[in-house]
Amino acid sequence: MQRADKTKVIVAGGGTAGWLTAYSLAKRLGKLLDLTLIESDQIGTVGVGEATIPSMKVFHQLVEIDEQAFMRATQATFKLGISLENWANIGDKYIHSFGVLGQSTWMAEFHEFWLEGRAQGFAGPLDDYCLELKAAKREKFATEVNKMPLLYAYHLDATAYAKYLRQQSEALGVRRIEGKIAGVDTDPETGNIAALQLDGDVGLAGDVFIDCTGFRALLIGEYLGVGFEDWSHWLASDRAIAVQSDAAEAPRPYTRSIAHPAGWQWRIPLQNRVGNGMIYCSKYLSDDEAKQTLFDNLPAEPLTDPLMLRFTTGRRYKSWHKNCIAIGLSSGFLEPLESTAIHLITTAIARLMRLFPFSGNTERLAAEFNQLTNLELEAVRDFVIMHYKLTQRDDSDFWNAYRTMDIPESLAHRMAIFQENGYTSSDDAGLFHVTSWVQVMMGQGLYPEQHHGAGQILAPAGLKEQLDIIKRSVDMKFSKLPSHQDFINKYCPAPMAASSN
Ligand SMILES: Cc1cc2nc3c(=O)[nH]c(=O)nc-3n(C[C@H](O)[C@H](O)[C@H](O)COP(=O)(O)OP(=O)(O)OC[C@H]3O[C@@H](n4cnc5c(N)ncnc54)[C@H](O)[C@@H]3O)c2cc1C
Repeated sequence: MQRADKTKVIVAGGGTAGWLTAYSLAKRLGKLLDLTLIESDQIGTVGVGEATIPSMKVFHQLVEIDEQAFMRATQATFKLGISLENWANIGDKYIHSFGVLGQSTWMAEFHEFWLEGRAQGFAGPLDDYCLELKAAKREKFATEVNKMPLLYAYHLDATAYAKYLRQQSEALGVRRIEGKIAGVDTDPETGNIAALQLDGDVGLAGDVFIDCTGFRALLIGEYLGVGFEDWSHWLASDRAIAVQSDAAEAPRPYTRSIAHPAGWQWRIPLQNRVGNGMIYCSKYLSDDEAKQTLFDNLPAEPLTDPLMLRFTTGRRYKSWHKNCIAIGLSSGFLEPLESTAIHLITTAIARLMRLFPFSGNTERLAAEFNQLTNLELEAVRDFVIMHYKLTQRDDSDFWNAYRTMDIPESLAHRMAIFQENGYTSSDDAGLFHVTSWVQVMMGQGLYPEQHHGAGQILAPAGLKEQLDIIKRSVDMKFSKLPSHQDFINKYCPAPMAASSN
């Protein structure tokens, strides 16, 4: 069947969500779509969101974003994981790395063999068996060793990323309008959005509207009236401060998340600066106190004024309603402890592309989209909550409240089965795999009382030999890695950063 006209898609909002959506649709479905993006310079973007997870590399490959070019344009560095400091107890530290731990079998996961080796006194620390974990701790990096890719993500400059995507999108024919959306016209019969009303009485008609207006959720929330499910009884933090600073050291290949008595602080190293911020709960900490804590813990001089943000954790009851699809902050928000928001943008874009409403019938497509979106967000929610629930800290009301809170049944079950038996599985949405759950549970001090018997069948000689083989393989690959800084200098130096290193 020949399509008469291109489907008119209007993307409302030009932050990371808006431009990544516009670019991806233009790149992959551009022949079938007429794409317009509207953004307001006066309103601006949220201006944060600089740490990612490995799925971003895969998504970039799907939509042909060149790794070296994008990294140079965004002052990006590599990320092998997150260092969680003071989370279990003050002074504790562990890395949740993106690498796979050792080698699993169909019957038992690697950590179950490792626990047996540990019980028998010959297993080394976990980083002996995971290249990414070992490399992160020692600040080494390469994209691959012996043609085997490492599992990594990026730290990037959010503003530069949106700008880069805008250039790429406009080159593909996306039309950009600068202006403010002041209202919408809906079709009285279907309830669909027919057009956006811009300041100055201009109408912008379309077939499909993507709401990327950030926390405002202008189309899906304000105009279509889709409500918001509040999750702050689990994740109570509601404020953030962000500030950029100079760098005092070479960039580490991991994000730092440093817990404080009433919140936590991030440190995201770019090539030319560090992104810093603090997530906290206004019930336990005033804005001034939070600012003081953050500024007392900056790695070097601040480069910007602090940006103060307010948020509520939760999600839209529906991300897709009528002919409007919310992507990015407009669809929900979870604090950035595991750097998942940009990932959720990429999966929403991919899902939209698979379910794109070419026929104009949106109801069943929307139901499918919403169900998948819910599953995914619940998996991230549980993973983030677990970091708090498993704290042993009792030095403040903030940590006491988290340590003793009720948690979702899905998470309570996962923690109990791990504690009693050493068993865990990947989450239903396939985002956090076994090794992520294991690293965080054990990192926070939850060690199983029992584990699978498979290790005992091999032990001691066979199990020790298997662990030694894995360790030797990790050591061999590790010996070939340059420092993170040296790798960046050769692979993707940003023009401004190159001279300073
Ligand atoms: C404190 C904090 C830290 C974060 N850290 C991370 C992280 O480390 N990793 C991660 O993956 N994510 C992180 N995120 C999330 C990440 O910042 C966002 O997911 C990402 O930036 C996408 O934002 P957005 O495009 O949805 O919204 P925004 O950047 O807010 O963009 C909204 C757009 O809508 C436009 N707009 C709004 N109203 C109108 C109107 N009336 N008319 C016209 N245009 C309008 C604005 O001009 C803007 O262009 C963090 C978020 C916060 C709050």
